[in-house]
Amino acid sequence: MRSYLAVAACLSLSVAAFAQPGGPDVDKREVSVEAVNRPLTDVLADLGRQIGAGVIGQGTDATLVTLSLSKTPFGDCMDLLADTFSLIAGWEGNALVARSMTHAVQAVDRRLADGEIDALATLMPAANGQVALYGSDGLRKQLAGKLQQIVSERTREWLALGEIDPDLAIMLASIQLQDPALRPALVCLGVRGLVRDGRVDAALEAWNLYLRGDRSPATTAAWAELFTALHYAASPYAVAFWQQSFSPDRVADALGQYWSAKRYQDGLHFARLNLRYATGTGRSSDAARLEQIIATTLGQVRTIDVTCAVDADALTDPRTENKVRVRVGKLSDVYEREFGIRFRVTDMIAWNPPSNNGFEPQYAALRQALGTRKPELTLGFILEVFQMHPSQFQPMHKHLWIGYGCPHVGAYLLTRDFSFEYITPTEALEWTFKPGAVEETLVHEMAHMFGALHVDDPTSVMRPTSNSRVEWSFDEVNRQIIMAGKWRDFSVGVDSLDIPELLTIIDRYHALAGQSATPNGAAQEIARCHLALAKLYSARREPLMARQHLQEVLAIGEPKDVLVEAQAMFAG
Ligand SMILES: [Zn+2]
Repeated sequence: MRSYLAVAACLSLSVAAFAQPGGPDVDKREVSVEAVNRPLTDVLADLGRQIGAGVIGQGTDATLVTLSLSKTPFGDCMDLLADTFSLIAGWEGNALVARSMTHAVQAVDRRLADGEIDALATLMPAANGQVALYGSDGLRKQLAGKLQQIVSERTREWLALGEIDPDLAIMLASIQLQDPALRPALVCLGVRGLVRDGRVDAALEAWNLYLRGDRSPATTAAWAELFTALHYAASPYAVAFWQQSFSPDRVADALGQYWSAKRYQDGLHFARLNLRYATGTGRSSDAARLEQIIATTLGQVRTIDVTCAVDADALTDPRTENKVRVRVGKLSDVYEREFGIRFRVTDMIAWNPPSNNGFEPQYAALRQALGTRKPELTLGFILEVFQMHPSQFQPMHKHLWIGYGCPHVGAYLLTRDFSFEYITPTEALEWTFKPGAVEETLVHEMAHMFGALHVDDPTSVMRPTSNSRVEWSFDEVNRQIIMAGKWRDFSVGVDSLDIPELLTIIDRYHALAGQSATPNGAAQEIARCHLALAKLYSARREPLMARQHLQEVLAIGEPKDVLVEAQAMFAG
């Protein structure tokens, strides 16, 4: 799309082109009109012949004129035609162009819809009074009103979409025709776009011009992004900008907005950056207040929207949906009590899990069922009914997994749910089939999604194999890991966490590594967290810290995908 400067240049060029009026000589020349139901275009062309210059009608073909004038000054004749037929009529070089106002405004609107703001250049000088027009002053006001209307309507559309070319946004904001109430929201979109494009100076300029005194939520969001960008661009204005615009309440507002948008990592990072500035500039009471704001935010109850994918066959049974909701309800109760995390079923879709026992085919089937949907978390239920007594089942299906949750494959969790047609639910059953087994599995797999690992502690829900009792409580180390990862984005994994959380988790993984005789993959998870830290430090322009964490990954040497990525970063 065009740049701000190019558009501005285009506007002023058009003004120059418009600004050559026909002059008093032409206007005084006498003309005559004899027309009965003649197209306006023809009448104008005829007048042109009489004065010896081009008079061009645009959008005037369908207008029919009945008029009789004899030896009338050309200027008076044009005034009459312009007022009668709402014409925007002015000299452009050696020709007089008379546009139907409706036609001209519609043409501009169509081009505006395609983001061509320079389309306004054809009419704005006329509306602004920079060009001499025939007809009364009312025409000019009418034109200005119509332009304001289309610009405001398009602006509202762009604002609703939340997407606009940043230059276009700033340019629109600068136009007097813009409804002033729309301006801050428009500039905010522009500022955020400029920040995204790495044009921090332009963003700061727009901020200073339009947003400095504004305290709307949109402005607070733009402020947060601009401040973060100024800091990382090592802008000489960063500290001054922060000092004139910071307040703890404003940080709380911005953090609340990040939280509503589920941008937890960005929000935390932003709040902690403010904390750093407050500490660095000796504002200790502000720093204390910020620490409190961050702690309160982290301590909030998190509600995770869950899409349940259920066997298409089972969904035809009206009891199935309730059964699934009860399962998620139990999961939610345990997590709310232990961690302040709720799970809310927002969607229930059908899927066809393959009979294959591997995970990959199951994930592929789940992704296919989801299509373009991107839920915060999807629980894939595989509901199987076996026509046998459970005592016969176990030896036959010894290696059948009953649930799978892995924090690195995306926002999916799989759980198998058995039922047997030959038993009653109250019977004492084998381990797989005891009451609560499916819910317990769900609680266990969900903990894996939050980064928890297996422990030998037989009273922890994180013991590797289910035994005769169901357990709902967590060992202390896994509890701390889950709390530190409480605000993770499942579709991103550990990369969605901020530095302090990753450091806590690494420390707790070290504790776990020493606590479990059976291998639990702690070293691999530690490597993954170090890689995540390396990426964060690299993005935050601390290359030395990034290298330190890469070295940790190289020293651990596994898993393969993490090692390869770390080696590539280290070499680069
Ligand atoms: Zn497990």
